[in-house]
Amino acid sequence: MPSHLDVPGAERPAPRRPDAPRRAAKHRSSRLSRLSRKRRTQLIGLTAALAAAAGTTAVGLSSSASGPSATTTTGLNPSQAGDLTAARIERRDLGSRDASRVDLSATRKAQADQIAKQRAARLAATATLTQRRSLALAAAKAANAKKAGAKARALAAAKAAAIAKAKAAAAAAAAAPKVVLPTTGYHLTARFNQAGGRWAHNHTGLDFAAPMGTPVRSVMAGVVIQADWEGAYGRQVKVRHSDGTVTSYSHMSEFDVSVGQHVQAGTKVGAIGMTGNTTGPHVHLEVLPGGGAPIDPEPWLREHGLNP
Ligand SMILES: [Zn+2]
Repeated sequence: MPSHLDVPGAERPAPRRPDAPRRAAKHRSSRLSRLSRKRRTQLIGLTAALAAAAGTTAVGLSSSASGPSATTTTGLNPSQAGDLTAARIERRDLGSRDASRVDLSATRKAQADQIAKQRAARLAATATLTQRRSLALAAAKAANAKKAGAKARALAAAKAAAIAKAKAAAAAAAAAPKVVLPTTGYHLTARFNQAGGRWAHNHTGLDFAAPMGTPVRSVMAGVVIQADWEGAYGRQVKVRHSDGTVTSYSHMSEFDVSVGQHVQAGTKVGAIGMTGNTTGPHVHLEVLPGGGAPIDPEPWLREHGLNP
């Protein structure tokens, strides 16, 4: 159906009836045209407003906008047609609104579903996070416990090692012969192999000069093999140690041990004197490995950790 409402001047003239005079028809036609033009302008305004309200662009204008020919076929005048159109638009609009309401409720339901889903997802995510956190915590605790265990084990191992070391040291100390210096408050007056007018040969020992009566002690544990006067040596004591080495102490003023007596390192065997061939109070110390020829006492004492 042609719709030329927007171009009112292009409307088709009414069909010509053979019995109607051309002039009259023309006259009527132009009168109708004027009328309908006015009415149609109103209709156009109304329809456009409704269309705008309904949000549509193409409304059913064609039924009421077919000009004078439509008026004759439907039997409605333009006013009635306008009312009808308005009613139709309103009905359609109402229907549309109902549909919208239905759509809206469906949309709301969908939205609610979505929200519920999102909430569930969030809860699940939170649960997963909580689970992860607790797992991480448990792992950390386990690691700490492991670390603590390792630390305790290391500590125990270190303690055991320390104990073993101490035991070994004690055993070594027990095994190694303890050695002490033969007297105190002394100064060395003659060294080994030193030449001098007092000796027939070079000096055979180390002289520790100290005040008269200062105790003279066995330098190591052993057995007394001599406690007697010995010529130029004066009062002499000899001790045999476990390794076979013999030490002798001469020029003493007294004897504090007897032959066969077991002594310890530091046991008093006599006292500083001037017996035998001597110019002053001192103890003449000799070291005789295996009871043989004397050696220099100084390096021997140093070898045993002493610094005379
Ligand atoms: Zn001497």
